[in-house]
Parts: sequence; C-alpha cells; structure tokens
Amino acid sequence: MSSKETLARLIAFDTVSRNSNLSLMDFVSARLRDAGVEPRMFPSEDGAKANLFATVGAADVPGVMLSGHTDVVPIDGQEWTRPAFEMTEEGGKLYGRGSCDMKGFVACALTAAERAAELHCKGKLKTPLHLAFSYDEEVGCIGVQGMIKTLAGEGVRPLFCIVGEPSEMRIATGHKGKVTFAARCIGREAHSALVTSGVNAIYLASELVGEVRRIQEEIIRGSRHDGDYAVPYSTMHVGTFNGGVALNIVPNFAEVVFECRNIAEEDTDAVIAKVRDAAERISAGVRGEFPEAGVEIEVRGEVPALGTAVDSDVVEFVKRVTGANDTTKVSYGTEAGLFSRDMGVPTVICGPGCMDQGHKPDEFVTVEQLNLCDAMMDSLLEQLQV
Ligand SMILES: [Zn+2]
Repeated sequence: MSSKETLARLIAFDTVSRNSNLSLMDFVSARLRDAGVEPRMFPSEDGAKANLFATVGAADVPGVMLSGHTDVVPIDGQEWTRPAFEMTEEGGKLYGRGSCDMKGFVACALTAAERAAELHCKGKLKTPLHLAFSYDEEVGCIGVQGMIKTLAGEGVRPLFCIVGEPSEMRIATGHKGKVTFAARCIGREAHSALVTSGVNAIYLASELVGEVRRIQEEIIRGSRHDGDYAVPYSTMHVGTFNGGVALNIVPNFAEVVFECRNIAEEDTDAVIAKVRDAAERISAGVRGEFPEAGVEIEVRGEVPALGTAVDSDVVEFVKRVTGANDTTKVSYGTEAGLFSRDMGVPTVICGPGCMDQGHKPDEFVTVEQLNLCDAMMDSLLEQLQV
C-alpha cells in the first residue's frame, strides 16, 4: 500500500483526542505483523487509547526513531466543504482531518517500516528503524509520556528521533515549551454593602494578573532571548479569568488560567518559583484577618522546549537524508522536547505539510509534500543499510 493509500485509511479513523485511537492502532499493528514486526502497545490507564512502539531490525541495536501522534483536533464549529474523515484528492491536495497534522507523516513512516522489514529479512538492515506513535498529543502531549518513561527506564535509547510534525520538510531544531498554571483565588463572601467584612477574590486574582505581567516585563528585560522565534523571548499569557456571582455579593472565588511559553534557555523552575512567590505575597496580605483567603497555584502541565544544537549529529544526519542545508525553529509545541529531555534522544522535527494548513477546516497536505516525505524515507532506508 502506498503512503497516499495508507493516509486515506488513517484519515477514515475518527481519532479526535476525546475518542479512542485503538481501531487505528489495530490497523497499524496488523500491517506491522504482516511485515513480521511485533509492535509493543502502551495502553492508557482506562485502556481506551494506546501508544505504539515498534522496532524493525535488531532489538539490541539503537536505531532511528520516527515519531508521530495519531490523534487529531476536533472539527466542531468548523465549516468543512469536504468530508473531514474521508480523504478527498483534488488539485494536488489531499484533504481530510489530520492529513497535515500529522497522519501524512505517520503513513509515510508506516510504509517505510514495511520496506525496512523487507530489508531486514534479506539481512541488509544494519541500523534498526523504530516507530513511536502516540495518543493525546493535541491535548498537551500527555499520551506519550507513559511510553517514554517505560522505554527510558528500560534503557531504550535510539540514536536519533525525527518527529514528523508539519515543517514543509525543513529541519526544525527548536520549539518553545509550555507551563500551564491555574490560580485558585479564595476570598470571603459578604454583602456588597459591607465590603470590609469580606475579601474580594476578584481583587486577589487581579493582583495575580498584575504579577504575571510584571514577570513578563522581567523576562523581556532579561538576557534570555532567541531571535529565531517571531516573539524572541518566553511569554506569559493569561487565557481565562473567572469569578463572581452577582453585583451585590463580594465574590469568594476567582480562577485565573495562564501559561508561560518558554524558550529552551529559560529556567522554568525559576519562573514557577516567581509565580508561587507572588501568590504567597498576595496571600500574606489578607491571611492575617481572613485565614482561609489567599491564592493557590497549581501547575497543570509542563511540556519541555526543544533546543537541539544546529551542529549536532542528528541535524547532520537529517540534512543528509532530506538534502536540506539549513534549519529552522517552529512556533508550536511538540513531543520532541520530551523525547530529547526524558529519553535523551537527539531529536529534530521534519515532516510534510505546513502547520498553517493544520487545525483548520479543509485541512490538507499536498501530494508533493507527501512525495518529498517518501523520498526522505528512501534515503533514510539507504542510510540504515550502510
Ligand atoms: Zn501535531
């Protein structure tokens, strides 16, 4: 089956993150078993989803890992003019949810694995090829973490990893990380005619927002900047602010959800400590009189940044197999930072399509980009034989 035919099959599985990805994984596993490769599954806690890891070639030799997520973003509220879960080919474009982000790459990787299996049968595959397919990437790179932990614990450490997120087949060596925070601001309710007998939780939340903005100013004045990004420093951003019930009640609760999108050089532990210190200062101002009041910070998620050196071996290797001679950085987060930090695998991003085409109605990948990805797999398979 060609990569294009495989992509059509993959698009037909509705693997929006809230759904199970098991039928897609069954399809991938069956293809691998037919090629003589036994995949390892890493089920989610409730068993509704799974990651897949497979090695084509010798099990005890580090290989090159191709990584992709199998989940896609929802189509709710989007005006599609073509079916979302059925591939439509039109004018050199392959339409369907996930075609670009990132089932196109997964299709090319699976096709390459089958060909690697043939080479292995003939005794020609010197360096193994690994596949690492995940779930729940689109909801904060959550799914892959269990698999990475297990594999890292077993000492599995591939030579290189290529995460095939859409980069128009350019080599991306970096992306920002993200820390997600939630602040629970607790006040004390009172009649608004008697404000001094209460604590206004919205005021506490507003003070915290002021502190978040102050931390942002500090970052901008600091020395950690990376001119390869459109916004060349780590950013603090408040996304939601909720609180209050009625005008005549002093609110006893407010919640602020915010994030830090950090460049690889940023010390995120220091940022988290600053946020906690700020919350502590605000709390100290009210706790004397109202012991239950204050601001509690919860770190809801942390996805590390990727910062692979442009002169590293993985970059040289992927330049050789793609023919590219320069590198870039991408604005979106990926699982690459996790493979790099938690598994110690030198990692770059390189995949077909452009992220501008992802997450939108009528998402597509061009046939040209898919062919370029197949061509990269061809040279990769050659490199694995030498
Ligand atoms: Zn993606």
